[in-house]
Amino acid sequence: MLKSYKIGRIAGIDLYLHGTFLLLLALTALTGSAITLLMLFTIVVLHELGHALAARHYGIPTQAITLYPIGGVARMQAGRFTPNQEIAVAAAGPAVNFALAGASLLLPATPLSSLFLAYNLGLGLFNLLPAFPMDGGRILRAFLSRRYGHVQATMRAADWGQKFAWVFGILGLVTASFNLVFLGIFVWLAAAAEAAPFGRRW
Ligand SMILES: [Zn+2]
Repeated sequence: MLKSYKIGRIAGIDLYLHGTFLLLLALTALTGSAITLLMLFTIVVLHELGHALAARHYGIPTQAITLYPIGGVARMQAGRFTPNQEIAVAAAGPAVNFALAGASLLLPATPLSSLFLAYNLGLGLFNLLPAFPMDGGRILRAFLSRRYGHVQATMRAADWGQKFAWVFGILGLVTASFNLVFLGIFVWLAAAAEAAPFGRRW
């Protein structure tokens, strides 16, 4: 279940589906909203492709995109962006969502096109929260790194990421949205992993 399954290849990047996503598929099969899930899935892939193609533009290829129930992760080759490049790469994902939201306004208004608009706006805005290592947090680190340098900026951004992680976790528990609880755990661990190479221990 915790394995990832390769489901295709886009623009030279392998696309994987994490095993836990299959649980979501099974749940959706029960509730009968397969089209909604397929749409969400496509939107997440396009968001990650935005990051991957921007990163490639700056010379850092992406090996794989893996889809989890709480979102996608683009695994890039080791390398360092300049702060401006990091802002462009981090913003490229939400920018894809805002472009798709804009494009959907040209479609006739149906329940599906309204959902498409809402998902894209939601995903774009949510990812801009400064909860490092989410996109907005990466943009925050890029700004901080101009003042504090890469190492200090990463640690400060990771602190913010973990504060947001607690907020996600508590909000998730209070509202019984377990995706939000998982996201909180994921962001907390991912922030710790980003700061760990610089000697930060939690
Ligand atoms: Zn993103």
